[in-house]
Amino acid sequence: MKKVIGIDLGGTKINGAVVDESGEILKWDTLSTSKSGSPEEVMYGIKELVLMLSEGENISAIGIGSPGFIDSVNGKVLSVGGNIEGWAGTEIKSPLEKEFNIPVQVENDANAAGLCEAWIGAGRDMESFVMLTVGTGLGGAVFTRKEGIWRGHHFQAAEVGHSILYPGGHQCSCGQRGCTEEYVSGTAIENEYERLSGIKKTGKEIFDNFESDSIARKVVGRFTWDFAMFLITIKNIFDPQAVIIGGGVILSKEFWWDDMIGNFESEVNNDPGMIILPARYFNDSGTIGAARAALDKILEAD
Ligand SMILES: [Zn+2]
Repeated sequence: MKKVIGIDLGGTKINGAVVDESGEILKWDTLSTSKSGSPEEVMYGIKELVLMLSEGENISAIGIGSPGFIDSVNGKVLSVGGNIEGWAGTEIKSPLEKEFNIPVQVENDANAAGLCEAWIGAGRDMESFVMLTVGTGLGGAVFTRKEGIWRGHHFQAAEVGHSILYPGGHQCSCGQRGCTEEYVSGTAIENEYERLSGIKKTGKEIFDNFESDSIARKVVGRFTWDFAMFLITIKNIFDPQAVIIGGGVILSKEFWWDDMIGNFESEVNNDPGMIILPARYFNDSGTIGAARAALDKILEAD
């Protein structure tokens, strides 16, 4: 059975795993990177992680899930690099193929998460779903069983985090204003908390004091409202069988999930029975899905 490495590039860490064709995870490892890490530092981190994971293993391919707009044919980052500073324009595939001499497949990180959930996760029995990853940013993937992941004509499909929720609103790193990502993400929660209190806290600190901190409750209340409005838009555009929600913020879902569902149900024009559920692999689906992308690459070549 073939083994591949899946790598997920986050804002502050790089996760990697060795995964086999059956979806079994044989090894895990994580590297921390500085938040202002340069593209060189990130590429160096990927190489380190591949070396650590491949020790004693026969690895057939490497899959990388990366933030930003990703040309998955050429394995490079297009004009928007997401939450890695200076990441736009980075060549990922060719230097890694040169270094390791095996095929490298690069996918947008949310598309990778969608591949995992479609394969062995919450969407494994579904005909269609929209995947949302709520973490440092807000990523999306559109999956149908018949077509697979829909990447778009210019590799920019399902960048739902950059759909505009508040016209003229907060400035987004992509250049637009009022993007949903500025209201529905872990970073959005931290920024809104700082705006209201003048104090900078991490998302974890905000959720840890949720019961005793009225500002935290207000911030999370706004988040659940904005998230619900966004889900209504997703329903109206795609009408998927399900919406699957992953990313780092899903780990705090006990504080916001039920309110978000309540807001969705009270505001939506009709409820067609669209299933809304957490990702089975929570925040790990990007890593596993990157491995799936690598497997797809070598199995299609066979
Ligand atoms: Zn944006």
